[in-house]
Amino acid sequence: MRILITGAAGFLGSHLCDRFLAEGHVVIGMDNLITGNTDNIAHLAGRADFTFIHHDVTNYIYLAGPLDAVLHFASPASPIDYLMYPIQTLKVGSLGTHNALGVAKAKGARFLLASTSEIYGDPLIHPQTEDYPGNVDTIGPRGVYDEAKRFAEAITMAYHRAHEVDTRIVRIFNTYGPRMRLDDGRVVPNFIGQALRHESLTIYGDGSQTRSFCYVSDLIDGIFRLLMSDFTDPVNIGNPTEMSILEFAQLVNTLTDNPAGLVYKEDLRIKGDPQTRQPDITRARSILGWEPHVDLNTGLHHTIEYFKDRV
Ligand code: UDP
Repeated sequence: MRILITGAAGFLGSHLCDRFLAEGHVVIGMDNLITGNTDNIAHLAGRADFTFIHHDVTNYIYLAGPLDAVLHFASPASPIDYLMYPIQTLKVGSLGTHNALGVAKAKGARFLLASTSEIYGDPLIHPQTEDYPGNVDTIGPRGVYDEAKRFAEAITMAYHRAHEVDTRIVRIFNTYGPRMRLDDGRVVPNFIGQALRHESLTIYGDGSQTRSFCYVSDLIDGIFRLLMSDFTDPVNIGNPTEMSILEFAQLVNTLTDNPAGLVYKEDLRIKGDPQTRQPDITRARSILGWEPHVDLNTGLHHTIEYFKDRV
C-alpha cells in the first residue's frame, strides 16, 4: 500500500510510520511541525519507501500518484498544546479532517481518523463504551480539542455515508512511550522528567482522578488491526488497567528511586479535568482480536530509559 500519514513527525504518527514501513508499505509523512519534531523521523531520512512533506493540512493537500490509505493523526494532543494552539486545534480537527477526507475520496483510499477518549468529556459512565455519547463542556478549555474531534468523527461518518469512503475511527485513550515530548505537559513526561531531575512530582488536585495508560506499541498494533479490518464504527483502543494519578506518581518515584516525593498543586490551566477514564475494550477484543500486552512496569522502564538521555 501507499499510505499518507498526517502528523507523521508526532509521537503516534512517527511510530505508525515505522510500523507500516516494517510491514513493507510505502509511507508519505506530512506534518507542519508545530508540535511534531523531525527528530522522531530522522532515522527514516533517505529511505526510498519514505517521503516527508512539510505541510499544514488545514490547507489544501495536493498529492501526486495513487494512494491506498490516509491515516489522519495531525493535531495538537496534549492539554498544554491545545491550550497554546486553540485555533489550530479546531482547524486541524475540522478543516484538516475535511482535506484529509477529500484526498481519500479523490484517490479511492481507505481513511482512518485518530479520535480520542476526550470525546467522552468528563464521563458519567464507567468504563466508557463506544455507544456513550459523552459529557463535554463545549466552551471549557478542553472544548477546542474535544469538539474538534467530535466534529472530525461526524464528518468522517458523513463521508462514509454520503460519499462511500471506506472509513475507520479509533478512539485513543492515554498512551505513553518513547518520542513523547518531555515538555508536552502530560502526566507521563512531566512525572518522569521531574523524577529524573530528583524533583517532587506535581499532583494536580488531590490525585484521586484516574487514568488508564497504554504502551505505544500496543496502541499501534490496535490501529494497524483496525485499518486492516472492515469495521466502520468507532473502536476504543487503550489499556483498561486503571489507577489514580496518586498511585501512578508513587510508581514513577519507586521505579526511578526519586527521593523528592510529591507536591500537590491546583492546576489552574485545565478546568474540567476528567475525574475517571477507563476504556471498555470489549469491541476491540471481539472485532479485532486485540488487547494490550505490555504491562505498566515494562512500558515505564522503556519510557524512563528514553527520557534519561533527554532530561
Ligand atoms: N496531572 C498531574 N500532574 C502533572 C500532569 C498531569 O497530576 O504534572 C494529571 C492531570 O490533572 C490529569 C492526569 O494527570 O488528571 C492526566 O493528564 P494528562 O495531561 O496526561 O492528559 P489527560 O488525560 O488529562 O488528557
